[in-house]
Amino acid sequence: MKTSNNNTLNIIDIINKKKNKQKISKEEIEYFVDASINNKINQAQISALLQLIYLNGMDHDEIVNLTLTMRDHSELINISSTKPIIDKHSTGGIGDKVSLILCPILACLGIVSPKLSGKGLGITGGTIDKLNSVNCKTDLTKKEYTNLAKKHGFFIAQQTEDIVPADRIFYAIRNDISAVDSLPLIVSSIMSKKLITNAEHIYLDVKVGSGAFFKTLEEAEKFAKECINIGKKDNRKVTCYLTNMDEPLGATIGNHIEVYEAVNFLLGRFFNKKLRDYIFELVTNILLDHKIASSKEIAKIKIDDIINNHKAFNLFQKYAKDCNALITEEEYKQPYKAKFKHEIFATKSGYINYKSNYTFGKVSLLLKAGRISKEDKIDNESGIFFTKFNNDKISKGDLLLTIYSSTKITDEVISELVKNIQYLSEPSKEIPKIIKIIK
Ligand code: URA
Repeated sequence: MKTSNNNTLNIIDIINKKKNKQKISKEEIEYFVDASINNKINQAQISALLQLIYLNGMDHDEIVNLTLTMRDHSELINISSTKPIIDKHSTGGIGDKVSLILCPILACLGIVSPKLSGKGLGITGGTIDKLNSVNCKTDLTKKEYTNLAKKHGFFIAQQTEDIVPADRIFYAIRNDISAVDSLPLIVSSIMSKKLITNAEHIYLDVKVGSGAFFKTLEEAEKFAKECINIGKKDNRKVTCYLTNMDEPLGATIGNHIEVYEAVNFLLGRFFNKKLRDYIFELVTNILLDHKIASSKEIAKIKIDDIINNHKAFNLFQKYAKDCNALITEEEYKQPYKAKFKHEIFATKSGYINYKSNYTFGKVSLLLKAGRISKEDKIDNESGIFFTKFNNDKISKGDLLLTIYSSTKITDEVISELVKNIQYLSEPSKEIPKIIKIIK
């Protein structure tokens, strides 16, 4: 881990430079990161500079310097394996349980995934909360994650004290000062954490839409290009999937309920076609990229085999057991249960259209499936289970969705969800899940 001994710099000058929209140098960025970690500057000063970066942005060199400096001030994770090592990461979405499904599938197919994940914050959910909701341990020591990678071909761990400490400090402050959705800060936060492992190929799922940090394709493309360039500087391949976040990913939103969908997926029970197609396409491309399959057809046969023969499920079950969680096929075959449930039925016939994905994110916060502040306690069991999806043809009286909670479901939750439902006389224009792939 690097430290900076530059005594000629001071934070006030750096803050003033950003205030005056000037570029900050590599040395100044190194000073800022080092001083933040080592308590040489205070929280107000860190907040001021982060807010100015949020408002005035950073150019390409500044983003690269910030990312690489944050990486250099971290413990590194080196997994030894003769197999390809990859890392798939999403910029944060609603109902995104992809990692829970992808890691065991890839491991069964000979691809290793060392994965650092985050807790959910704001309207986006976090893989760590989902695993914790079924008692699966994620605060892993170096010895534990190294053993898990060796034994199972993947691990999903949360950030520890020594893993990119600058990101932990910056992220908490960004959340408190509403400076999360900033391109330079998101690039440096995500890429610094990706570059500390020895993954040779990083796959980024860049979400675009009302339920994502990037609301427009333009912003998402800019983000993707920055990440690809930073990857090149560190000799990594970066492939960005720009995917639609105008609707939740899959049939569920929440924590335990998303594990429920993921486990059922691994058992070959797919609740949502778009999630199934997305995972199959992603895995197929990864297998082709790493020459594990020579054609799309062969990739499909391989994926079908490990799902139909429960190989990925068995692996996930063993992984969970080593992390203190009991996952049984019997339990996951039963319908999802929580103390309280409320079903919403169609009041008209037509084509269903859920108006805003953001509303689902907001409702998941009301249900305590997500958290506004890092300290908030979440309800593991709460969430939404969709039976009908955008553009499905429905008849009056059909079940559209079910709300689950450990506490009484409020009228506010129900009315927000009812207001979000539209019945169209014709299907609306379908946006593909994968909008674009940039390499
Ligand atoms: N995920 C991260 O890890 N960091 C961000 O800034 C946004 C999403």
